[in-house]
Amino acid sequence: MPELPSVESLLAEAVEAVGGTQRPGQVEMALAVERAIRTGEHLAVQAGTGTGKSLGYLVPAVRHAVAEEATVVVSTATIALQRQLVDRDLPRLAKALKKSLGREPTFAILKGRRNYLCMHRVHSGAPDEPEDEGLFDPFAISRLGRDVKRLHEWSSDTETGDRDELVPGVSDQAWRQLSVSAKECLGVSKCPIGVDCFAERARAEAGRADVVVTNHALLAIDALEGYKVLPEHDLVIVDEAHDLVDRVTSVATAELSTAALAVAVRRCGRQIEDDVADQLSESGEGLEIVLSEMPIGRLDAMPRALSGALAAVRDAAHRCITALGPERKEDPEGAVGRKLALAMLDEIHDTSVRLLEAFDGDEAHRRDVVWLAGDFRDDSKPPTVKVAPLGVGGLLRERLFAPRTTVLTSATLTLGGTFDALARQWGLPASSQVRELDATATDKEPPSDLSAPRWSGMDVGSPFEHGRSGILYLARHLPTPGRDGLPQAYLDEIVELVNAAGGRTLGLFSSMRAAKQAAEAIRTRIEYPVLCQGEDSTAQLVKKFADDVRCCLFGTLSLWQGVDVPGDSLQLVIVDRIPFPRPDDPLASARQRAVEARGGNGFLTVAATHAALLLAQGAGRLLRSTNDKGVVAILDPRLATARYGGFLRASLPPFWTTHDPEVVRAALARLDDAASA
Ligand code: SF4
Repeated sequence: MPELPSVESLLAEAVEAVGGTQRPGQVEMALAVERAIRTGEHLAVQAGTGTGKSLGYLVPAVRHAVAEEATVVVSTATIALQRQLVDRDLPRLAKALKKSLGREPTFAILKGRRNYLCMHRVHSGAPDEPEDEGLFDPFAISRLGRDVKRLHEWSSDTETGDRDELVPGVSDQAWRQLSVSAKECLGVSKCPIGVDCFAERARAEAGRADVVVTNHALLAIDALEGYKVLPEHDLVIVDEAHDLVDRVTSVATAELSTAALAVAVRRCGRQIEDDVADQLSESGEGLEIVLSEMPIGRLDAMPRALSGALAAVRDAAHRCITALGPERKEDPEGAVGRKLALAMLDEIHDTSVRLLEAFDGDEAHRRDVVWLAGDFRDDSKPPTVKVAPLGVGGLLRERLFAPRTTVLTSATLTLGGTFDALARQWGLPASSQVRELDATATDKEPPSDLSAPRWSGMDVGSPFEHGRSGILYLARHLPTPGRDGLPQAYLDEIVELVNAAGGRTLGLFSSMRAAKQAAEAIRTRIEYPVLCQGEDSTAQLVKKFADDVRCCLFGTLSLWQGVDVPGDSLQLVIVDRIPFPRPDDPLASARQRAVEARGGNGFLTVAATHAALLLAQGAGRLLRSTNDKGVVAILDPRLATARYGGFLRASLPPFWTTHDPEVVRAALARLDDAASA
């Protein structure tokens, strides 16, 4: 194959083809990714909004895939970014580079098996819970029946079977009727649908593609579980990498509930002797009695009663698995029922074992945290037992970083000015160095721990002039937030700020309760419309907010990360309090304790890091294009006064900072005038 053009010239071609302008940060990023590919040294790149980050990594990745005839995996946290890559960036890039690369690069999207319609279930009609059959007619006029009927009709129209392409969507319950998890799938060689299966087709297409776009969950399953779901690849680009640890933790979290045990018993149906299934049923009843007497929350030791109940569940599940016996040559319908039962029994058995082993050894060396989850207001349902890893760094280091080169990128990767906090969570050795834009790519000393993966961090900056375009207002005069809702002074402050801004406000609250309280309280005091999360789908609310410049939108977590509204509709971001994890959050509190048990600072490592990441994401909602201007107002005075405030402030974009409410209101009024002119 002839020598391919350099990354720089390919990037210039790509930028010209999409009608953009070259930005120094984007060029630096592309060169750094190219170097990572060449040297095998992992790379973390912080690239602010507007850098053109996706082209910054796609160009070197595509060049590498074509040159080496290799596959590159790009992983995202959100469907929105996945769609942007597959529907916009990659098609344009493929066309733009076709001539220079000698052929048009190819790409494909790959999701978990559960996301595709299972045509075998569509044809065989194998129900999820056989004895629920009598409870409803799947084609009856019920929501579930209508959804399942729609799915049957859709199955003959769709070309991909991809759930995300079904608009409007169907309930999870309906989708579960006609889809399978990887463990429930019969396997392509045994399934009568075989190669016509949507999931198999998507996999085959991904195996032939230069770039495979996937999500963090599937990336985690591929890396952590025993079976390969992604095609062979030697380079992974993790976009939205600030979310990687949470997504991997979710994949590695297991739960055990009495409802799941009841479903497993039903799935066993007539496939095993009644007395064996009865033992599983009885173990479920025993677990229910124990759980209904326990409080919700983290467990620091395994209570004897729970240990006994879990051991009974483990043994009963094992007996059912043995009774189902080794695989037989049966008709495919029988095989489906057996597979569905086995998948559930295996999970119940393995989770019981994991729970029983979670408290082995001393606290500093435990790997899992266990808690009882449930609704404490509804004691009709027994809680669920959950188990999650305290950290996923070890797993990522061994299964993600060791086998291949990884590039991690996001607008928010440095906290308190360094990559250390996130690097630690990823299992990479800390390095206080953040390579700046003008530094060379070779100036970093190798890490002292030579067995540790080598990596470098680079901040390519942002095209925004934060100091000129944005004000960070720290309301130092307000009281510290308490537990009993928003203080009156906060509501008064919100009214004054929103009035000065003429609406145009995104309110980011640390709880749904606070968002609702603020929305209700200020609706009677301002003349602008106030939308609150939960009143419609979040996508619809964001659209209304973007379309009406006078509108305000209040909400919680998903708005902190998911709102992208450039222009005059968003000139004020209000944050009510520093978003520390709740003190009763079992995972965060256990992680904090584990750090302390090893002699570290649990609060800074866990709680402050969590808050810093969310605050940076929330503040990042303000400037979405180079012409945007506005204010980020943080009402919680601790950001200005507490000792950890410096770390949190250093995690925010470098806005011009003030404590003076009059200065802020005057600035907002000027912006409102300018936007209204
Ligand atoms: S291979 Fe698996 S997912 Fe595909 S149709 Fe068969 S059972 Fe369903």
